[in-house]
Amino acid sequence: MNAEFITVTGVVQGVGFRPFIYGLAKRSDVYGWVRNTSAGVEIHAEGTAAALEAFARDVREEAPPRAYVATLTRAAAPYEGRDEFVIVESAADPDAYQLVSPDIATCGDCRRELLDPADRRHEYPFTNCTNCGPRFTIIEGLPYDRERTTMRHFPLCPACRREYEDPSDRRFHAEPNACPVCGPRVRLVRRVNGTAVELAAGTTDDPAAPIRAAAELLRDGEVLAVKGLGGFHLACDATDGAVVRKLKQRKRRPDKPLAVMFGDVDELRRHCRVDPEEADLLTSPEHPIVLLDWREVRTDGTIGAEVGSAEADVPPVDAGVAVGQRYLGAMLPYTPLHVLLLRAAGRPLVMTSGNLAEEPIVKGWEEADRLAHIADAYLLHDREIAARYDDSVALVRRGRPRLVRRSRGYAPFPVPLPRELPQVLACGAELKNTFCVTRDAYAFLSQHIGDLENLETLEHYETSIALYERMFRLEPEVVAYDSHPEYLATKHALTLPREEKVAVQHHHAHLAARLVENGREDQVIGVCMDGLGYGADGVLWGGEVLVGDLLGYERVAHLEELPLPGGALAIERPARTAAGWVYALLGDDGLARAARLLRGRAGGREPFLSDEELTAVVRQVQTGENAPLTTSCGRLFDAVAALAGVRGSITYEGQAAIELEMMSRSGAEPYPFAIEEEVATAPAAVVRLAPLVAAVLDDVEAGREPGYVGSRLHTTVAALTLELCRRVRAANGLAVAALTGGVFQNRLLSDLCEDALEADGFEVLGSGLVPANDGGVALGQAAVAGYTVLRRRGLLD
Ligand SMILES: [Zn+2]
Ligand SMILES: [Zn+2]
Repeated sequence: MNAEFITVTGVVQGVGFRPFIYGLAKRSDVYGWVRNTSAGVEIHAEGTAAALEAFARDVREEAPPRAYVATLTRAAAPYEGRDEFVIVESAADPDAYQLVSPDIATCGDCRRELLDPADRRHEYPFTNCTNCGPRFTIIEGLPYDRERTTMRHFPLCPACRREYEDPSDRRFHAEPNACPVCGPRVRLVRRVNGTAVELAAGTTDDPAAPIRAAAELLRDGEVLAVKGLGGFHLACDATDGAVVRKLKQRKRRPDKPLAVMFGDVDELRRHCRVDPEEADLLTSPEHPIVLLDWREVRTDGTIGAEVGSAEADVPPVDAGVAVGQRYLGAMLPYTPLHVLLLRAAGRPLVMTSGNLAEEPIVKGWEEADRLAHIADAYLLHDREIAARYDDSVALVRRGRPRLVRRSRGYAPFPVPLPRELPQVLACGAELKNTFCVTRDAYAFLSQHIGDLENLETLEHYETSIALYERMFRLEPEVVAYDSHPEYLATKHALTLPREEKVAVQHHHAHLAARLVENGREDQVIGVCMDGLGYGADGVLWGGEVLVGDLLGYERVAHLEELPLPGGALAIERPARTAAGWVYALLGDDGLARAARLLRGRAGGREPFLSDEELTAVVRQVQTGENAPLTTSCGRLFDAVAALAGVRGSITYEGQAAIELEMMSRSGAEPYPFAIEEEVATAPAAVVRLAPLVAAVLDDVEAGREPGYVGSRLHTTVAALTLELCRRVRAANGLAVAALTGGVFQNRLLSDLCEDALEADGFEVLGSGLVPANDGGVALGQAAVAGYTVLRRRGLLD
């Protein structure tokens, strides 16, 4: 007989790991004990050499579905002659840390119990087990035990305690375990003249009564604030155009697409095309919002038939949910409360995050007052939310998921780093902010925080950083930040009392994030097609080809510098960018042509630009006053969208470019462009845009549809990406291209670029679980800062 001491780290708590070990030991003729520690799980195992070998292998290979084994180490231990296998008391170590499980969507077993009239949890909206339920959103401290979660307010009843203490039960040490007798409850409340009036309250006998009453209000066309896992949703009947419009007006987001929750995949298939990989993602433990083909947008911008096969008895989702969009953000119920609400409503529901334009998702009841002018009533519960957590947003490309927003179900699961780094806090970017902290070879990229533009978001940001530092027992020695002096995240970084600070150029961070996600440290070509990022020369970059690794980069090519007339105003008003660029590139003749198009004199539509605004744009371009220069590819899409007649101003980030994408198709003839080698200032190739812009004017004047122009623009950007990458390969032999930056959220463009590069022999690093947009920047900052400090300390060759 032999004995071994086995240590396991990873996500091994809150996921049914000890009962799994217990069961495995019994099956494998292994004796000894298992316990949780602050760092993971420890096992003392005794048995024959063969039994121990098989046991160690199966710990890895048969681990429960939500567990993740990062390391498993075995060491010889003294043989003690044990004759049983037991679970022993947890051991706490104040310096150790462990991975924390994200929240997990309701599992099949819990769902069956929820809908089984004979089960004691029938219609209980907080049913969960070790395979599913809240985790990250209820954790207040570590180790992960009930008394350090917001479930500490709900003492277990005898029946729940028996489950909790029985190693053979699915709820053994399920920390959020609850039932209608002892657990949280829902209530439905309406605010009348400033006071809360209870319309329905859950009881032990009928825990779901408020949910049925809420469904009634939803069917009557009311807007409800629904408290969920990580915050409030604003919900309404997705098939009722009047209430959808009302919700959008009240949210002050007239055009931004809303997410819709469907009862099940079959209901969803009647509205959208759902591929097998998309169905897998929708029903995965993460249950993200998935962007699915919904309606056909024709190249002239008009909407054709719906993609699904709507049946007569199912009212269709109202088109106002996602105006001008080919894709619908769809998700399936991921908590028991959602399952019950969707069943009671009997129709798809809009479920959009409970926030005002630019503010973070609303978390607690005190804050719900901020929704008073949006919601007619509130469906509440008394389980506190420890951490805000938005829905994640994903799409499937080439059979694999790509995240657009990384939050619920994914964070705070770490991204593995290619090597151990010092502890870094990376403060992230301004829009779609996330931050990132590192420990050992893990990068903990935070959940989506939001746009750092107001006090509420900044508070959310600071408390979330504090939570991660507490959760992972971190004291970062290094601070990484974007070089943009006006970002709130940068200002925050500069106030921190740490000695080592590293500024990381925005697009270098984008490139580094893509490298880290792919586990690479080597030098690659980084194609960064982005909105705006502060460049090393103070110009706003965004159409860049870099050659770089995790330590540094060289800028080898970029789009030409053009003015943004009015600065931030040009972002809200793409017509200004269009007029300014045409004037800068083609002079007075071009300006006269653009003016005819943008002032609507060529067609019959509303003018995109007034005479006064056009005069101001011309003056700004001439003097350079309030007209910062940019090389942004995002702004190129804006300008072409405005010239093509898509829209002159926007109400949400990227709107003009997104609408142009919806109308565009592959297979178009590229526009002409010119590449010049600029040697005077820096040895970088510059893409000249005058030929492209002139050809766009020709097309629009010839009466070409916006989708035709858009299709040609997409092909052009793919063609110039390929051409620039070829030049780099010819010059220094590099044949790996990382595609990154917010513009690559554009599916058509990333498909065209990836296809063209791969057909030409390049290896392409596309986006995956780390967003291509600014939500991924913090990861890249953390890596660059960590490697930079390692080199400063002489720890890197
Ligand atoms: Zn479950
Ligand atoms: Zn109970």
